[in-house]
Amino acid sequence: MSSKEALQHYMNLDTRGNVQAMYVWIDGTGESMRGKTRTLTKVPKDVSELPEWNYDGSSTGQAEGSNSDCYLKPVRIFPDPFRGAPHILVLSEVLDSDKKPAGTNHRASCARVMEKVKDEKPWFGMEQEWTMLDVDGHPYRWPKQGYPGPQGPYYCAVGSNNIYGRDVVEAHYRACLYAGIQISGTNAEVMPAQWEFQVGPCEGIEMGDQLWMARYLLCRVAEDFGVVCSFDPKPIKGDWNGAGCHVNYSTESMRQPGGREVIYKAIEKLRGRHNLHIKAYDPQGGRDNLRRLTGLHETSSVMDFSYGTANRGCSIRIPRLVDDHGCGYFEDRRPSSNCDPYAVTDVFVRTTILDETG
Ligand code: ADP
Ligand code: MN
Ligand code: MN
Ligand code: MN
Ligand code: MN
Repeated sequence: MSSKEALQHYMNLDTRGNVQAMYVWIDGTGESMRGKTRTLTKVPKDVSELPEWNYDGSSTGQAEGSNSDCYLKPVRIFPDPFRGAPHILVLSEVLDSDKKPAGTNHRASCARVMEKVKDEKPWFGMEQEWTMLDVDGHPYRWPKQGYPGPQGPYYCAVGSNNIYGRDVVEAHYRACLYAGIQISGTNAEVMPAQWEFQVGPCEGIEMGDQLWMARYLLCRVAEDFGVVCSFDPKPIKGDWNGAGCHVNYSTESMRQPGGREVIYKAIEKLRGRHNLHIKAYDPQGGRDNLRRLTGLHETSSVMDFSYGTANRGCSIRIPRLVDDHGCGYFEDRRPSSNCDPYAVTDVFVRTTILDETG
């Protein structure tokens, strides 16, 4: 019997009314997540009923050993697709020992900004690209010496010769649906073993909350299949596509008749803050994305800001539908696959709605 089969017996035991709550948070890398479980004696009806908790921040790159406690502030409950009902996942913000948002807690600021602009109903849809790796860090099912055949047949492919790891993607899709994540689709990417899933459209703070939890689910599902997911924006050097996290964006006025003009105005505002946005689009202040935004492989150069209808070599792509219908949304193709969606959506509304400059 495999250990997964053995585990099934215990997972079917009655928990006698107890609820397992897996608290999940972003660690000191700003990219990886951590989680730990506690028992609750009843099912919480609302996130406000959940206790604050703490952990050893010196083990996650978030505190010194001499003052190591970090606080976990529960912000959002998701049904747990691994343990099943009534068990839950608890997305949490990290606060430092003074109860101030920790360095990699970009949610606190994002939530404040989203509250300010809520009348504009900002919607986001993010396209999360990622790469499946073996436990040794090598791309999944790539030959251990050499490379697979060049890019071309892999994007949206069918067939064992061109598809690397579909089971993981299928399992993750269902796990997201179970957890109430607005996952809107998946596709195989241009580089073999690279995949994409989309979350959205989500309003305001929901974008960051849902995308972070969807990433957590992906890493957990990958454990079950003995593989690893990488969010590195350029996992393989050379003639292989990098991984991004395109942001599709609209406000209420962009979605209504005449919205096209609002979209073009927003794009001009983004032009004025290109460098500031690039800094916010990966957890290394823009350094990670330098490897990806080369101007090749369906990217624009990090040095330039450009836009165009249906153009996938630009910073900003305006879908053809916007010109046809006169309203809709647009896509920022610059964010890196390992971006923090709180930081990205925060700077988006600051620039396009609050008219912040500089
Ligand atoms: P692409 O053609 O760039 O690969 P995808 O189909 O992968 O696009 O992703 C499109 C994303 O845009 C989805 O996440 C979807 O939820 C989102 N989206 C659709 N309509 C809107 C809108 N009006 N505002 C913001 N996002 C939207
Ligand atoms: Mn920071
Ligand atoms: Mn896409
Ligand atoms: Mn893609
Ligand atoms: Mn896209």
